[in-house]
Amino acid sequence: MRPCSWHDCPLPAAATVAFELPNLLAGSRRDYCAAHTVQVCLARGTVVVAARFGPHQPALPSLPDAPAGRRAGRASRTRRKGVVP
Ligand SMILES: [Zn+2]
Repeated sequence: MRPCSWHDCPLPAAATVAFELPNLLAGSRRDYCAAHTVQVCLARGTVVVAARFGPHQPALPSLPDAPAGRRAGRASRTRRKGVVP
């Protein structure tokens, strides 16, 4: 198994992340450990193409049942309702 591409990270890679525009690394793929995959995927243009997470699957920010995301979604929807004509 390849090591995590994150600088100085000693952990083995758990997922492959593909970079697309507008990311600066567009066209390349890199392997990261579970924690750094989540961190890298916060950037624009990142796609997880091969996740091999074990039982400790990290909570991705895009999951609909994440408590923080649900609260933010409800707040923005209420706010947007008054702004959009
Ligand atoms: Zn790492």
